[in-house]
Amino acid sequence: MNRVFNFSAGPSILPVEVLQKAQKEMLDYNGSGMSVMEMSHRSKIYVELFDKAQSLFKQLMNISDDYEILFLQGGASAQFAAIPMNLSQGKKCLYVDTGAFAAKAIKEAQRYADVTVAASSEESNYNYIPMDYDIDQDASYLHITSNNTIFGTAYPALPDTGDVELVADMSSEICGIQRDVSKFGLIYAGAQKNLGPAGLTVVIVKKSLLGKQLGITPNMLNYQVLAKGKSMVNTPATYPIYIAMLNFEYMLNNGGVKAAEKNNRQKAAMLYDVLDSSSFYVPIAKKDFRSIMNVTFTLPNDELTQKFINDAGQLGLVNLKGHRSVGGIRASIYNAMPNEGVEKLAQFMSDFERNI
Ligand SMILES: *Cc1c(COP(=O)(O)O)cnc(C)c1O
Repeated sequence: MNRVFNFSAGPSILPVEVLQKAQKEMLDYNGSGMSVMEMSHRSKIYVELFDKAQSLFKQLMNISDDYEILFLQGGASAQFAAIPMNLSQGKKCLYVDTGAFAAKAIKEAQRYADVTVAASSEESNYNYIPMDYDIDQDASYLHITSNNTIFGTAYPALPDTGDVELVADMSSEICGIQRDVSKFGLIYAGAQKNLGPAGLTVVIVKKSLLGKQLGITPNMLNYQVLAKGKSMVNTPATYPIYIAMLNFEYMLNNGGVKAAEKNNRQKAAMLYDVLDSSSFYVPIAKKDFRSIMNVTFTLPNDELTQKFINDAGQLGLVNLKGHRSVGGIRASIYNAMPNEGVEKLAQFMSDFERNI
């Protein structure tokens, strides 16, 4: 077996322990004589697994009973439409434009709701998070992207929205940093960055916000219908939910989100320290808004960038190419990335600069 250090932005690295457990249980889950993949989602054994996944997630994120947890499909992108359909209530919806996914969420919401872009950092190619803007108290919600996967920026603190519900796309930081769920009306995330395989989308929504959807809302995007049906209105992503369950278990056994955040901060600091002591690498995100999940930077030219990627690959440090809209390098260092991988990358960065 030859595992690499996989810095992919998503789908991304999972703990070896989780993959090994799944491997062990592949042919015979818990004495059932079958794989989780082959089970009816209505069977007792699967419903138990599903309930366990939800309860572990609830524990991990410290979610109160005021919230409904939904395990859905369609990715974070389906939520771009579901959110305005379920929460706009004919009122203005505020969005902060902090990157490509935020911009997609805005574009989709404009089809169903009266959208106002409260602030944007587009003019500087999204290298910071705007923090200073008015929040119209007549609006239904304010939508933020708490960690911007492509640009490597994150909110250092949550905006104070007053009576306006705070809604966040947490796809690339969920369970990697402590966020107080009680401050949010809704949180959503595609699982494939930090929770499990692609195919599962988690939504945490305040129960008091259910039942206010627009008439056109399809059942499969209607939070009230989905909540009543316990996320099983149709066949859920049975296997991705199983892997996420194993990962939730793994995270809880390793100190939960608190320990993960501490570890993620240490990993990120290793890379930012190299960047800050270099005159060769240029970090993309402004200092106050640096992500601890996606570290982005550029090299002096495309040729050196390509050489960096190739040479790193030789050492088993893979998927470091930055997103095409930014260029340069992006190292995604989600929870499952071991310290050893980041140490190796930091060392490689220093060596590469010295030898150029
Ligand atoms: C990856 C990502 C998305 C897109 O997720 P899908 O599940 O592919 O729809 C949206 N927002 C953020 C912040 C992401 O990182």
